[in-house]
Amino acid sequence: MPQPTAAAPQHRAVVLGAGIGGLTAAVALHRRGWTVTVLERAADLAPVGAGIGLAPNALRALDVLGLGDRVRALAAWQGDGGMRTPDGRWLARTDARAAAARFGDPLVLLHRATLVEILASALPAGTVRTAAPAALAHPGDPRTPARITTPDGTLEAELAVAADGIRSAARTVLFPGHPGPRYSGCTTWRLVVPAPARPFAPHETWGAGRLWGTQPLKDGRIYAYAMAAAPAGAHAPDDERAELLRLFGDWHHPVPEILAAADPARVLRHDVHHLVDPLPAHHRGRTALLGDAAHAMMPSLGQGGNQAVEDAVVLAHHARVPAAFDPDRDLAAYTADRLPRTTALVRKAARTGALTLVTARPAVALRDALVRTVSRLGPGFVLRGFDGIADWRPPAAPDPDPARVS
Ligand SMILES: Cc1cc2nc3c(=O)[nH]c(=O)nc-3n(C[C@H](O)[C@H](O)[C@H](O)COP(=O)(O)OP(=O)(O)OC[C@H]3O[C@@H](n4cnc5c(N)ncnc54)[C@H](O)[C@@H]3O)c2cc1C
Repeated sequence: MPQPTAAAPQHRAVVLGAGIGGLTAAVALHRRGWTVTVLERAADLAPVGAGIGLAPNALRALDVLGLGDRVRALAAWQGDGGMRTPDGRWLARTDARAAAARFGDPLVLLHRATLVEILASALPAGTVRTAAPAALAHPGDPRTPARITTPDGTLEAELAVAADGIRSAARTVLFPGHPGPRYSGCTTWRLVVPAPARPFAPHETWGAGRLWGTQPLKDGRIYAYAMAAAPAGAHAPDDERAELLRLFGDWHHPVPEILAAADPARVLRHDVHHLVDPLPAHHRGRTALLGDAAHAMMPSLGQGGNQAVEDAVVLAHHARVPAAFDPDRDLAAYTADRLPRTTALVRKAARTGALTLVTARPAVALRDALVRTVSRLGPGFVLRGFDGIADWRPPAAPDPDPARVS
């Protein structure tokens, strides 16, 4: 008489959101042997945004996934540049060689679409479902899988990953009492344009209550970003290029040239919100939160995306090979690794942001004098601000190839 067979163990991971965090988590979990589905509400994967800077900490996390060198190959040598005042005087010179020597890697600035392409290409075809808005119906517990509803029906998962960004609806399901993101007091603009005719040095320029950065991309274009104190929800009465001209049009070269080349329709503007109130945990039941859903921060350290990449690799490290996954133990370990680090970074990014946005003349003079003094002590002193951030190392040796994971 045939014996009843036990149901085969399921190793399903469902990721909500195909931003940088969700895609990195999908690659990392796939390499661990999970059967991964990514649900993205947008109709395609083309990301909003222009450039993104990946620091040595994220590059090392990408090494775990075998992708670090593809990103390193896109580094446009940042060479000598630094921080300036709006009239062009140098506040501090930075040296990419010194940074690479201190942290073991360069800062790589690349187009977001390129990063998304690199991550998506490391996933089996059909892993990512677009035009698939998803809702976390139940976070799961040690005995029952998590449940995720989509327009096509409900999915069950032994591991759910909420990577649905700063406005995360999954976060509200997990922590309904949390106040959510708060407005940081500033707004940002981003644009990508052809390189200006006259040469320029990469720079970040700090004025009173506003800043502008210009950085080269490997493909010859340049990525520029700007930030200014502004009330929440404000928009230019005409267009955002006109607003940038009013705020930055008389700043040093290459800012006016970049603005002259910019297409008003392609200037992105976003208000900056952040999660200044830390969450009690980065998981509940069988669901882990990561990226901006867990710890959205001001862009002043350029670490939001970098931290999402770190989260993803650390989560997959704790989630182990799926047959050994214990949600209580492994997701608690994930929270213990990630919550203190990201909470500290949200706070540090807010302090740095506040410094760049001071408006009172004496405070601006004091800030600039401080930066000048520190920079005279050598590039090492400026770079010290990134100690503990850029020197982070992932917890595991490179993952085994999925074909060899049993
Ligand atoms: C001006 C500016 C400059 C920045 N520069 C840098 C930088 O240089 N370096 C850096 O590391 N970081 C930078 N950041 C921060 C970085 O952009 C974010 O931290 C990062 O994109 C967060 O990635 P994520 O995957 O967590 O979230 P997101 O990129 O927001 O992705 C979330 C995804 O989830 C999807 N989604 C949402 N809800 C649902 C749903 N219900 N169902 C299905 N899908 C859903 C969304 O469509 C989206 O695709 C910058 C931010 C700003 C504003």
